[in-house]
Amino acid sequence: MSPDLPFRTLKPALAKRFGMPLHRVALDAGSTCPNRDGTKGRGGCVYCDVEGSGTGALKSGLDIAAQLQLGLARIARRERGEYGAIAYFQSYSNTYVAPERLDEVLSAVEPALASRGGPVRVVALATRPDTLPDWALERLVRLAREVPVWVELGLESASDDVLLRIQRLHTCAEFEDAVVRCHGAGLEVVGHAILGLPGDGREGARCTAEVLARSGCAGVKVHHLMVLERTILAAWWRRGEVTVQQPAEYVDWLADFVERLSPAQVLHRITGDAPPDVQLAPRWDLHKGEVRRLLAEELHRRGSRQGAFAPRDLAHGAPGPHSGR
Ligand code: SF4
Repeated sequence: MSPDLPFRTLKPALAKRFGMPLHRVALDAGSTCPNRDGTKGRGGCVYCDVEGSGTGALKSGLDIAAQLQLGLARIARRERGEYGAIAYFQSYSNTYVAPERLDEVLSAVEPALASRGGPVRVVALATRPDTLPDWALERLVRLAREVPVWVELGLESASDDVLLRIQRLHTCAEFEDAVVRCHGAGLEVVGHAILGLPGDGREGARCTAEVLARSGCAGVKVHHLMVLERTILAAWWRRGEVTVQQPAEYVDWLADFVERLSPAQVLHRITGDAPPDVQLAPRWDLHKGEVRRLLAEELHRRGSRQGAFAPRDLAHGAPGPHSGR
């Protein structure tokens, strides 16, 4: 844990592990999702816009290798010293594809891997817990022989009722099972959560943190509920059926959440953002550094820290199976 922050953040964790700063390059592999193609549902999770929470870069004609080169060039322009990159397949469910397509996608980043002289030191793939077949795990394990592979899995809420209401259409048990399978294969997991989902409440935020802590996933991403244009949530919000949080309330709930994580878990993200022209609500005028400062202040005010209310067996900071410590 950073000496001046009562919670564990990504930047120092990466610097300690890799000996240099790592920058993320978001990639769009043009995948889809069973919540959109009718296999499980149509329309997607209620908060997800039609780009699948991603960049939409593929539609603009850039293949994966070109997206990566563009992102790496952008980093090279602003970094003076040694640096590395995280190739992050962000949009949609990246293991919800044919085996040949996953091979093609992964092979597009291989020439840039650090093991082959390139700057990519981590490959991260976002996906759903219910779209992680064994053949996909096998391919990721093969890649993980060269660089660490992070499987970014959406839990969002530990409540199956809430997951149904927001049309996630998977269960908390499916998330837990997927984490066990990733860990069994030797892959690291980053679990995602959203605070303030309709019907979840403050207690829901606490329960979600407890599930993430018990799962042993190495990293956690969490953000507040955001209402984006072209989502089902936008229609609910316009009809006054959902409310969004103001910063003070979010930080209060976030402090509860962080207190219930394991002290070993790394917080990859504690707030969210979206382009101003698509984000309807909330419209905070807060930089992410400000949220970090407010969270630290709140935990200091409570005389608390990350993991203070973690499940008993995790409260002393025993690292998760793949926390990189
Ligand atoms: S599972 Fe992911 S990509 Fe699919 S609808 Fe939900 S948030 Fe969007």
